Amino acid sequence: MSRPHHLDLDRFVRGLARRNPAQAEFHQAVREVMHDVFPFVRENLRYSEQAILERMTEPDRVVIFRVTWEDDRGRVHAHRGWRVQFSNTIGPYKGGLRFHRSVNQSILKFLAFEQIFKNSLTGLPMGGAKGGSNFDPHGRSDREVMRFCQAFMTQLAPYIGEDTDVPAGDMGVGSREISYLFGQWRRLENRFVGVLTGKDLSFGGSLIRKEATGYGAVYFAEDMLTLRGDSLAGKTCTVSGSGNVALYCVEKLLQSEARVVTVSDSDGTIYVPQGFTWEMFDHLKDLKEKRRGRLGEFAEKFGVEFRGQSRPWSVPCDLAFPCATQNELNAEDAAALVGNGVQAVVEGANMPCTPEAVELFRTKGVLYAPGKAANAGGVSVSGLEQSQNSLRLSWSREEVDSRLRTIMHEIHKKCVAYGQDPSGMINYQRGANLAGFVRVADAMLAQGLV
Ligand code: NDP
Repeated sequence: MSRPHHLDLDRFVRGLARRNPAQAEFHQAVREVMHDVFPFVRENLRYSEQAILERMTEPDRVVIFRVTWEDDRGRVHAHRGWRVQFSNTIGPYKGGLRFHRSVNQSILKFLAFEQIFKNSLTGLPMGGAKGGSNFDPHGRSDREVMRFCQAFMTQLAPYIGEDTDVPAGDMGVGSREISYLFGQWRRLENRFVGVLTGKDLSFGGSLIRKEATGYGAVYFAEDMLTLRGDSLAGKTCTVSGSGNVALYCVEKLLQSEARVVTVSDSDGTIYVPQGFTWEMFDHLKDLKEKRRGRLGEFAEKFGVEFRGQSRPWSVPCDLAFPCATQNELNAEDAAALVGNGVQAVVEGANMPCTPEAVELFRTKGVLYAPGKAANAGGVSVSGLEQSQNSLRLSWSREEVDSRLRTIMHEIHKKCVAYGQDPSGMINYQRGANLAGFVRVADAMLAQGLV
C-alpha cells in the first residue's frame, strides 16, 4: 500500500508520543534521527511505501521482569529488569546493560534505538538492543552485586544467546558485573560461548575492549581535525565523567599530547588548569577502577580544585568530550563553550548534548560528533570479541587496536560522505543518521514484511 508522500515530522513524532506516553528520552532520540531521515525519505519513496519509519520506531519486543535478591543484612529487594530488543535486521541483537537508579523503559528504548544506527555504522553484523535495571551498584558490597547479577541473569537467560542477543556493559556494568552475569549464564545453560561481551581476558574477553569506547572517540576527533589540517597535539580538552568511557578517552588524549583539564562524577568536577599528568591519570584509574572511590579524594591527594555539584562546561577548552550521561550538556553549557571558543564537541556518552545545545553548535560552526558515530568503538570491539569467541582464538592488542582504528576511520568517512553541507561544512549528525539508516532500511526492504 502506498503511503502519504507529504511526510510530516511533527505529526510523526506526535503519533509516536501518543503511542509511547511518558517516554521523553525515546521521543527525543527518534526526533533527532527523523529530523535528518525525513527529507531523505521524501526523496526516496520506496522507504515510505513500505512503512520503514513506522516499523523502525517500534521495537521487536520489550521484555520486563522482576529481579528479587537479598542484601548482606538479609533484607529482600525487588528491582525491575528490562531487555529492549529493537531490531535484528542486520545481525543478532547487541547492546549494553545499564545498572543505575535512573533506568526506566524510556531511557532503554532511546539507547536501543540509537544502538541500531550505531551498530549499522560499524559495518559489522549487529542489531540494536539495550537492557538493564534500576538497581544501583554504588555502595553495594561485591557479594550483593554478585547476588543481584545472578538474579538478573536468571530472568534474562531465556531471551539471549550467542546468535540471538549478546549483551555487553554500560553505566554501572563493568568487568565485575559482566563476570558475575556470565558465571550465572554458564551455570544455567551448561555451555561456554560468547553470550556476553566485555568479559575478562581469562575467559574469552578481548584486549582493548575496556579502552575501546574512549580510544575510539579520540580516533574520531583526530580524523575530524585531520580533515581540517589540524591535530590534537597541544589542544586543551575538557572531559566529563570518570567511568569507563571517560578514563580511556583521557588516556588516549594524553597519548596524543593533548592537555586534559577536567574529569567529573555526579558529585562535581576536578579542574587541573596545567593539565593531567600521567601520575595523576594512573592514580585516577586506580581510584575509579579498583577502589570505586570519589573524586573528592583525588582532589585532596593532588591539591587540585574540586568544583562541587558543577559540570566541566564553563572551563575554556578547544575540544569538549562529554562522557558521563544523557542530557548532561544543555543550551546554557553550549553557550559557555562557544563563548570560550570551543572548536569541536565529541560525544563519548550517548545523547549527552540536548537538541538545543546541538543546534547552537551547528549555527556557530562548531564541529559536532554525535555519540552514535564517535562512541561506536565500544560496540565495534564487542563485535570483534564475538568474532574471536566464534573462532576460539584471541587477537593481539595491536591487531584489535588496528581494527578499531580502521573501523573508526570508516565511520568517519561514511559521516563525511552523507553529511556534506552545501556550505562546505560537514554535518556529522546528518551523516551518521543517514549512513546508519540506509544500511538497515535497505536490509528491511530486501527481507520483506517482517
Ligand atoms: P560508567 O558507569 O563507567 O561511568 C559513568 C560516569 O558518569 C561516572 O563517572 C558517573 O559518576 C558519571 N555520571 C553518571 N550520571 C551522572 C550525572 N547525572 N551527572 C554527572 N555525572 C554522572 O559508565 P560508562 O563510562 O560505561 O558510560 C558513560 C556513557 O557512555 C553512557 O552514556 C553510556 O551509555 C555511554 N557508552 C558507553 C560505552 C561503553 O563501552 N562503556 C559504549 C558507548 C557508549 P558517578 O560514579 O558519580 O555516578
